Amino acid sequence: MKKKYQGLELSYRLQLLPICKDELIRSWLVRNALFFNMKPAQLSTIIFQNTDVWKSDIDVQLSKRSIQSLLNAVEILEKDLHQTLISSKCGNFYPHLNDSKQVKWLLQLGVHQRRQKNSLQYCPACIASDKTPYFRTYWRLGFLTACHIHNICFLDDCPNCNYPIDLVRYKKTNDIPFEPLDYLKCDQCSFDLRDAPRIKPSHYELEANREHFNLLVEGYGSVGNLSFSYSHIYYDGLKRIMSLFLCSEKGIDMFEYIVNAYDLNTGYNERRAEISLHSEPDHLPIQMRKIGIIFSHHIMKDWPVSFIKICKKFGVTKRFIYSPYLKYPFWLQEIIDLELN
Ligand SMILES: [Zn+2]
Ligand SMILES: [Zn+2]
Repeated sequence: MKKKYQGLELSYRLQLLPICKDELIRSWLVRNALFFNMKPAQLSTIIFQNTDVWKSDIDVQLSKRSIQSLLNAVEILEKDLHQTLISSKCGNFYPHLNDSKQVKWLLQLGVHQRRQKNSLQYCPACIASDKTPYFRTYWRLGFLTACHIHNICFLDDCPNCNYPIDLVRYKKTNDIPFEPLDYLKCDQCSFDLRDAPRIKPSHYELEANREHFNLLVEGYGSVGNLSFSYSHIYYDGLKRIMSLFLCSEKGIDMFEYIVNAYDLNTGYNERRAEISLHSEPDHLPIQMRKIGIIFSHHIMKDWPVSFIKICKKFGVTKRFIYSPYLKYPFWLQEIIDLELN
């Protein structure tokens, strides 16, 4: 069996389509598989010589052995491959990978996700204008909800039937071959994601997304009236703030306040009320994260004035925010201790 895989591996080495800049490995593999009229799981098995790799989160981490197999299969420098893996470029938003096996802020995709699964975000204008359409690594990040190139909202499902996009399953009906661009179609209803509506985000959502993207790329920068010499110091605090706002009991009132103040769809209030206390804010659907991001813009623009004001308005004190098991960056800790005690 192994010999057979090796034979296939060699014949594909010359022909595999190259990986694009910032492309998710899953996206690259799916593109190649459909190009060769194979199921992605099948090509993954040939490349990695292991049937289980496809079921893991290959965008984030790969074993040394899998990296070697991939280097044998595709013309790519080892350092460029490492640059593609999210685990080796998460330092600007989550440098704590040593403490935990899971990279925070990542939307959950894949077969073996025990917790609630997400759908992959995408920008319809990006995939429509790409010479080779592909899915970007930063589309998996929960603190982004809009495209900084096209200034439109990311979508996180099929706009026609609401089926999630996960680049995992591809149905093959009898002998009908795959088309090379089938990965741009909804798996359920075949809607072409390039035709999805272009939705304009609010000014606040766009502004927050710009700041978030800048921090992600530069590793430092400003958000509202605060400057961060290391981006993750902002993201560590944002995580706590999003948890309060999107996942805690006290956050429900704050959420409704923001929906009213920014004239957002009041239907979101119902969905907010259904969020379980044990949820992680970065695993929530895009509509909820979007409002979390508008909230982050609201409190960062004049930090800490609006934050203190909204906390006092809804009786949110230190005991509602603070958890003894978690770490808080100084810029947030200081305000919690001084103003909300
Ligand atoms: Zn775009
Ligand atoms: Zn669909």
